[in-house]
Amino acid sequence: MDLTRRDFLKLCSFMGAGAVATVYAADIKRVFAQVAQQNGGKVHLIWLHAAGDSGCTISMLQASNPDLVEAAQNLAISADFWDAFMTPDYQLGDSGWVTAGYTTEATSSVPLMNAAFGDAPVDVLVIEGTPQTGAPPGGSPGDYCWVGQYNGSSVSGYTALQKLAAKATWVIAVGQCSAFGGIPAAKGQLTGAVPVTEALKAAGVATKNPVVNIAGCPAQPDWVLITLSSVLQGFSPDLDELGRPKAFYSRYIHESCPRRGYYDSGQFATSFDDPECLWDLGCKGPITLSACAETKWNGGLGFCTQAGPMCYGCMHPSFPDPPTTGFFEPLPHFPGVDIPTLELAGGVAAVVGAGLAVGLAVESKKAKEPEKQAASEPSGGSG
Ligand code: SF4
Ligand code: SF4
Repeated sequence: MDLTRRDFLKLCSFMGAGAVATVYAADIKRVFAQVAQQNGGKVHLIWLHAAGDSGCTISMLQASNPDLVEAAQNLAISADFWDAFMTPDYQLGDSGWVTAGYTTEATSSVPLMNAAFGDAPVDVLVIEGTPQTGAPPGGSPGDYCWVGQYNGSSVSGYTALQKLAAKATWVIAVGQCSAFGGIPAAKGQLTGAVPVTEALKAAGVATKNPVVNIAGCPAQPDWVLITLSSVLQGFSPDLDELGRPKAFYSRYIHESCPRRGYYDSGQFATSFDDPECLWDLGCKGPITLSACAETKWNGGLGFCTQAGPMCYGCMHPSFPDPPTTGFFEPLPHFPGVDIPTLELAGGVAAVVGAGLAVGLAVESKKAKEPEKQAASEPSGGSG
């Protein structure tokens, strides 16, 4: 029997990320197949790169529920532009080595330009990397990043983003850079790098559906594919105030961490070789909303605090600025205070945990870039 929309809503909203990613892998695959059938085998996807290192694209290669090849085959996605996976039209140079000339490089952006300025359909726009909206000296806004040519003129990533986001049915910001600014938007940056939602707001661009933010450096690939399968069913997953699917960003890592028993009994590691709680070595699991400890990574094999290092808060909206840095500096330590329980308890947290709650909030607030303040954790979130 086919998975219904109601079943799928339950999967993504109520049953928990771990169950979605593992127990229901077959159902998710079936959803992909259904959507492909409904769309005549074509779902037009544009994967636009802004400022970043393509780490999220590489992360996608580790997807397991389903894997990327399975997803592409079952969904029959027409990835009309995804530069990291496109085969350049290489030419044989005089030296005998294979080289790519400017002509072929220009040709490779034609599908992107057709989607941005022409009639080519865009069902899903994925943005990886941080849009750069600033103007270099003597230049125009967006001039820090070019993505191709149209009618003989260079087109900035900022312009392409505006055109594509206005046209796409769904806009998904994949990774920390596009969701919250990430490293390119860190304190001291000079290029006007901002999260996708802020770039679109500044340009006055409205999207057909709410932008979905899949935070993380890199993004967890199974969460990206589950979210894709959700929006391709025609509905947005249940999102929090920052546009993140609640299924993956509702619980603190600290709540399900395999080292939690050591924390509860006050046993703390002094080196990364130790098995105890990594609090004193700088763990940011207590302030980071993420299902890493539940779904894990790499086909469910493990994740940061299980593998050895601490959580460095790569999914926290302020990453890589404080309070996620200094990476190896511990959060304020209040022995005996159970942070997530207090936070979840709402009003009780405000009274009993006032010292810790206020301390972390102040630290976070005073250190943030102005453009990143809007991306702070919801009140009661980061404690
Ligand atoms: S502080 Fe970090 S290592 Fe310790 S229990 Fe919490 S999440 Fe796990
Ligand atoms: S455990 Fe922390 S640092 Fe590791 S992937 Fe999850 S949020 Fe990022």
